[in-house]
Amino acid sequence: MPIYEYKCNVCGHEFEELVLSSCAESPVCPECKSPETEKQLSSFSSGASFEDPMPSIPPSGGCGSSGFS
Ligand SMILES: [Zn+2]
Repeated sequence: MPIYEYKCNVCGHEFEELVLSSCAESPVCPECKSPETEKQLSSFSSGASFEDPMPSIPPSGGCGSSGFS
């Protein structure tokens, strides 16, 4: 399971959070309960054979307003 590192922008506390969904919102800081947390880049899985759960999204298409016919 993916575990991401987060850092609180308020008190600077760094913590790890188990993320079940790739599009989950940032957790609150366990120290000051602030939602102002920022996800840190993984320092251990860079370059490894880590399968990305979210493949590259094509630039065209999507759920935007495409009323072109
Ligand atoms: Zn904090």
